Amino acid sequence: MEIEQWDAIIVGGGSAGLSAALALVRARRRVLVLDAGAPRNGVAAHMHGVLGRDGWSPLTLLETGRGEVRSYGGEVRSAEVTGAVKSDEGFVVSLSDGGRHRGRRMLVATGLRDEMPDIPGLAQHWGTSAVVCPYCDGWEVRDQRIAVLLTEPMSAQQAQLLRQWSPRVTFITDGQDVPDEIRRELVARGIVVEDRAVAGVVTDDTGGLQAIRFTDGTLIDINSIFFRSGVRPNDDLLVRLGAVRDEGPDGAWVRVDATGLTSVPGLWAVGNVVSSSANVPVSMASGSVAGATINGDLIKEEIRAALAQAG
Ligand SMILES: Cc1cc2nc3c(=O)[nH]c(=O)nc-3n(C[C@H](O)[C@H](O)[C@H](O)COP(=O)(O)OP(=O)(O)OC[C@H]3O[C@@H](n4cnc5c(N)ncnc54)[C@H](O)[C@@H]3O)c2cc1C
Repeated sequence: MEIEQWDAIIVGGGSAGLSAALALVRARRRVLVLDAGAPRNGVAAHMHGVLGRDGWSPLTLLETGRGEVRSYGGEVRSAEVTGAVKSDEGFVVSLSDGGRHRGRRMLVATGLRDEMPDIPGLAQHWGTSAVVCPYCDGWEVRDQRIAVLLTEPMSAQQAQLLRQWSPRVTFITDGQDVPDEIRRELVARGIVVEDRAVAGVVTDDTGGLQAIRFTDGTLIDINSIFFRSGVRPNDDLLVRLGAVRDEGPDGAWVRVDATGLTSVPGLWAVGNVVSSSANVPVSMASGSVAGATINGDLIKEEIRAALAQAG
């Protein structure tokens, strides 16, 4: 099968990848976006904190973005990239359907996977009432009954943060130890610390989240559950291409500079694949910077080629 040639290949068509594509296509570059179609916030009906698009569906945002990239001649295709190798002329990526493409530059914006706490019944509320981000979903549950699950040491801080949105916050320790000082800080701000072991969550007849059930059979009514999910970057392609990772408090993450350039020349990475804290606006911004930087890098290569040809 013939290999198609591109100035830049972008793997992942979420807000990070599409923003990079938009910068590049408007710079008249030949760009291919390959996207498996499962953005991290695809489960959420609404997206918040995105200036000018607050309350939009995340999927509508991406559909609109794909249309914008295509309107300048960019290609956005549904595809899963399974491998990539570096060559003198750039990168060759392979798709699950056997297709291959060559790009002079490559950008990976494949996002991350959230790992939920193992609590029976919780998964069915993921993205609606079982959520991770107070800035994304806190306003919608202001003044309501909010539970915060202890999943890691930073969870107490998340409970303190949620107290900004509601006076009715319960910190669910599920029987785990909480240092005395942290416990005092929580109680001082009116946060209830609940130490009983959790058996599961209760769903009402309409499919909504109703309560937390403890192993002693008792319940507390709640409207939403916040927790810090385990986050795992979808960075296999980057690692296999030799990108260096740095060990951090939440695992190893691929190292990038302020433009998203990895340790591998010609290879960029932006959005949640390299930063667990990047929300939609931050992912867009990092994609936009990377797109412009890739264009600048291509121009440098073109100057070198022009000089070589001029002798
Ligand atoms: C429940 C929930 C609600 C959220 N709500 C908000 C909110 O209200 N406001 C906000 O600002 N942020 C919100 N976020 C955060 C938001 O989801 C992320 O900031 C954003 O999705 C990151 O964009 P991204 O482009 O890096 O990754 P993603 O949006 O996850 O996009 C990555 C894309 O790459 C594709 N991909 C992965 N691997 C491959 C491969 N091998 N080949 C081809 N394609 C691949 C995926 O299918 C996906 O389409 C929320 C997150 C969650 C979990």
